[in-house]
Amino acid sequence: MPDQMTALAFLAPEAPAATAAPSSRPSLVGRTRAGLSAAMAEAGVPERELRMRTSQIWNWVYHHGVRDFSEMRNVGKDLKSALEARFTLRRPEVTASQVSRDGTRKWLLKMQPTGPHDRGAEIECVYIPETDRGTLCVSSQVGCTLTCTFCHTGTQRLVRNLTSAEIVAQLMVARDMIGDFPGRTAPTDGLLPGEGSRFVSNIVFMGMGEPLYNADAVTDAIDTIADGDGLSVGRRRITVSTSGVVPEIGPLGARSNAMLAISLHAVRDELRDELVPLNRKYPIRDLLDACRAYPGLSNARRITFEYVMLKGVNDSDADARELVRLLKGIPAKINLIPFNPWPGTRYECSDWDRIERFSDIVFRAGYASPVRTPRGRDILAACGQLKSETEKLSARARMMLDEAGASPSTSPLA
Ligand code: SAH
Ligand code: SF4
Repeated sequence: MPDQMTALAFLAPEAPAATAAPSSRPSLVGRTRAGLSAAMAEAGVPERELRMRTSQIWNWVYHHGVRDFSEMRNVGKDLKSALEARFTLRRPEVTASQVSRDGTRKWLLKMQPTGPHDRGAEIECVYIPETDRGTLCVSSQVGCTLTCTFCHTGTQRLVRNLTSAEIVAQLMVARDMIGDFPGRTAPTDGLLPGEGSRFVSNIVFMGMGEPLYNADAVTDAIDTIADGDGLSVGRRRITVSTSGVVPEIGPLGARSNAMLAISLHAVRDELRDELVPLNRKYPIRDLLDACRAYPGLSNARRITFEYVMLKGVNDSDADARELVRLLKGIPAKINLIPFNPWPGTRYECSDWDRIERFSDIVFRAGYASPVRTPRGRDILAACGQLKSETEKLSARARMMLDEAGASPSTSPLA
């Protein structure tokens, strides 16, 4: 009987004792199929059963979102205890949780320490509900090595890449927090998509970090998130936003089939060099060439160009006309983002009539040009406001936010 044989294998002498401290056991949550399969092998599952067992556990971890091995109903007792002895189903710890007046939710997540001197990096992840969809904005790095002058994340000093498991774990935590696994209860303190809509239908890599500086982990994470037997978010509903790491754009499309967003923000190199310093390495022309060559482009599969509206900096009529000229021939959507201020920034958001005029020029050239309504501004959750030190805001910075009409309601959970 296969189960008996596996049971024997579980008793292999190199197996760690079942009493190992919980924190020393690695988590299975966030692993790729290959990673999960390796864990099964480590737990003694024989080679010929690996595929089947991996699929079984995969389904419990990602479809059901179980938090305890005992919930895995159709898994034999021996395998469950062998897994329990070596692994956990731990998620990153949620150290703060906020709900905006508009229903946007922001979570501060503490990652497992990577070594004795690491106290556990913190990252932010934001959930944006609408009536017919829910978008999760995930981080790909702790902080960002790039220093776009209008972005709060770019001012954070501590930077490291997240692993693919840490990226996937953000979706797991989000679904835990909004009760989006079978049999769980949804919270009642904020908007959630209506009946028939998935709570997390879309993923955008628009949190902290530059995803294409961590492309391997991001593509592995996309494979896990898109897997139809688990988390099951379609690849066309996953968007990777980049400030323009040109050599990684083509490979990302070929490997992940994800949607692409480009943070353009300026139509002349001189200004873009200043706003997005990476432009000095990969200027606008090279960036747009990489866009033209993006695999699978069509009118039904367009690239989104993001353009942050900065008062008196990039918001003139001439800028709008040049934007339209530059994008000619590329299946594109243009997303105008009102600048979200953060404490200490030197920029201001363009006036509303200026944004409308800009949008009008773009619209008349044949592009839908939605102005992205800022969401979660009151909890510093909007684009470009993420920085894992929000809880350490100075008293003065808090006062500035209060004066701007915001009332952050942090509720530390830990
Ligand atoms: N590093 C990637 C993804 C994260 S930033 C990138 O730059 O594309 C996600 C989006 O937020 C980008 O378009 C970025 O330019 C924009 N953004 C950054 N700071 C902002 C701010 N203060 N207000 C509005 N949008 C901002
Ligand atoms: Fe990094 Fe993107 Fe912010 Fe630029 S806009 S500093 S690339 S996170």
